[in-house]
Amino acid sequence: MASHGGHGHGHAHEDMLSVEEAYDRIMVYFNPLEAEEHELTSALGQVLAENIHSPLNLPPLANSAMDGYAVCFEDFANSNGEHRTLDVIGHVPAGQVASHPLRPGTAIRIMTGAPVPDGADTIVPFEETDELERKAKGLGESQITIQQTPHKGQHVRPAAEDVAAGDMVLQEGTPLRGAEVGVLASLGLQSVKVIRRPVVSIIATGDELLTPGEPLEPAKIYDSNSFSLAASVMQCGGIPRLLGIARDTVEEVHAKLDEAEDSDLLLTSAGVSKGDYDLVKDVLAERGEIGFWSVRMRPAKPLAFGLIRGAGNRNVPHMGLPGNPVSAMVAFEEFTRPAILRMLGRRRLARPTVQAVLEGPIRNFDGRRVYARVQVRRENGVYFAMPTGAQGSNILTSMSKANGLALCPEDLPVKEAGETVTVKMVDWNEEVDI
Ligand code: AMP
Ligand code: MG
Repeated sequence: MASHGGHGHGHAHEDMLSVEEAYDRIMVYFNPLEAEEHELTSALGQVLAENIHSPLNLPPLANSAMDGYAVCFEDFANSNGEHRTLDVIGHVPAGQVASHPLRPGTAIRIMTGAPVPDGADTIVPFEETDELERKAKGLGESQITIQQTPHKGQHVRPAAEDVAAGDMVLQEGTPLRGAEVGVLASLGLQSVKVIRRPVVSIIATGDELLTPGEPLEPAKIYDSNSFSLAASVMQCGGIPRLLGIARDTVEEVHAKLDEAEDSDLLLTSAGVSKGDYDLVKDVLAERGEIGFWSVRMRPAKPLAFGLIRGAGNRNVPHMGLPGNPVSAMVAFEEFTRPAILRMLGRRRLARPTVQAVLEGPIRNFDGRRVYARVQVRRENGVYFAMPTGAQGSNILTSMSKANGLALCPEDLPVKEAGETVTVKMVDWNEEVDI
């Protein structure tokens, strides 16, 4: 993989990759992972790796949609609305088949979900009979008066109304939600083939870092990237493996890379900006091939991408995300999330966008695409995007107040308040009216 160096000479943007170029170069290395058999509930959120054909009719038998009486419509064919009293010759609860067929001029008491007895084709709900009066008067259950002329076939759910045996019910590539898990269970399936979740190793690098829980020391900061990245990996369906902090020494970086050898993706943060990537670069050069890029975006300009020789003969893709906390998250959003989704077998990789009225300016100092942290809300059907505060790449709290990233195009020096802006929704928070 060619390194994209050449900082500091020529026109600055000639040395930069556009976001799309960086995306394309990365995404060719990612494909859906292998399928695994999973029990239904543990497959939630994963992508179906097989077409599901139904082994049965759903419902298997014609059954009643109401509690009431199964009757034969013929008995009412010439009725002009007069009441009709029938002998009740049986009772069929849900889960049982009537012990004998219906004869003309009779009724069988039936519960919701119970199979419609042979000879019956129509259900009369209790509400349209003298059921309650009879009970109140203690008249017994041997007869019933139908007070309303039924329509033929009313309140009968036909066999195979939902699914016929052999139908393709769910297609390979479908992400499983509660509804799909329910459909699979309704077909009697206990487990299903889904694409497995990728394991994503995460390494923070830097001498200044402490792990949360450790006492604070002068000149140190807590490692937040490992945690924001691990949480983001989980949110998009991957399995994070936190490998902790590698100090800026060749030995430590090597040792951490050893631990990442059997993962599907390695994320590191920091050590890729101009100041200090030499050390990481040297180690990575020994372990595989890596390119150090400048991407035409703000934040998250520095980005490394390459392949590390992993366990056996496989290569582990490696993304070297920038160190600044917001840069790391924005780079994750643009490059890591789509890669994880692709490995999960998802087909839609992009976030939804909305067009919103910007409520504060986004300034573009140097011709990069700007991702401004905004809070989107909706008023009277119109979206508004309010910048969430200081936009420095170290200001993580303005990321936590944001539900979207508003885009200012590369060649536009400013997006003014009042202008329409495209916002990538990184979250569709139910607590905000959007
Ligand atoms: P670097 O890319 O190493 O120059 O780091 C850029 C900035 O990100 C520096 O201010 C670092 O202290 C900060 N930084 C690096 N790693 C982390 C981390 N894991 N958590 C929080 N901040 C970090
Ligand atoms: Mg550093």
